[in-house]
Amino acid sequence: MGLPTDAYNDGFVRRALGRIGTATIGPMEIMGVQIRTIVHDNVARRCDGCRDIIDGTPWRVNLLDIVASESPVAWTERPVVNPGPFQFHGDPACVRRWMGEKGYLFCRRGEVREIMRPVAIPGEAVRWGLCDGIHRDDHEFVPA
Ligand SMILES: [Zn+2]
Ligand SMILES: [Zn+2]
Repeated sequence: MGLPTDAYNDGFVRRALGRIGTATIGPMEIMGVQIRTIVHDNVARRCDGCRDIIDGTPWRVNLLDIVASESPVAWTERPVVNPGPFQFHGDPACVRRWMGEKGYLFCRRGEVREIMRPVAIPGEAVRWGLCDGIHRDDHEFVPA
């Protein structure tokens, strides 16, 4: 049994799309209101920090992958850090608030940036500190 050829796939996809096209409602207006407007309301972005709606472009923050640990995470364990992206108002206070709620510590040697590195802080329960990773000296983690 061979793999389907591209030509086969193209035809299949086109037929599938054709079927979907006849069954769904395309772009339209309801009483002069464009569907686009309704969709926009449904996906209104909220700040992960203060949870207010974000007007304009959100400030996105990603957490870098944790550097490989000594043993792989067992399938029964949840991934420790959700990489995001998370969306905020353009205010570090919103990001710090989010960090505090998540139990992350914040490295005061760095700043809130679009890419933060999680750093494991040893202890009875491992905590995570977030740092922009730009400074060269030791981290100084404080409650966010
Ligand atoms: Zn906010
Ligand atoms: Zn640091």
